[in-house]
Amino acid sequence: MERLNSLRAVVSETEHLPARESMEVGVAYLPRDRSVMAFFCPCGCGREVFIPFEDHCTVWKLESVEPLTVSPSIQMTSECRAHYFIRGGRIIWC
Ligand SMILES: [Zn+2]
Repeated sequence: MERLNSLRAVVSETEHLPARESMEVGVAYLPRDRSVMAFFCPCGCGREVFIPFEDHCTVWKLESVEPLTVSPSIQMTSECRAHYFIRGGRIIWC
């Protein structure tokens, strides 16, 4: 599996996220309202990651879209256990 070192954001003109089969590796997709972000895990495991921003329970904040910056770090609870920061469009592995 090849780890990515960068991730760019694409904001949709609609309220919908693209279908999984039309998503590209290395691109994070957001609907127009930027309430959520979907992308393939940058570790290369092929899992889809959904980061909610509007839920009151969420810990994540979308600091910047271009370049993409999200805080705090993202840690997968699935078996890949990927743990990384997204800062300035870069993936910073922990
Ligand atoms: Zn992964």
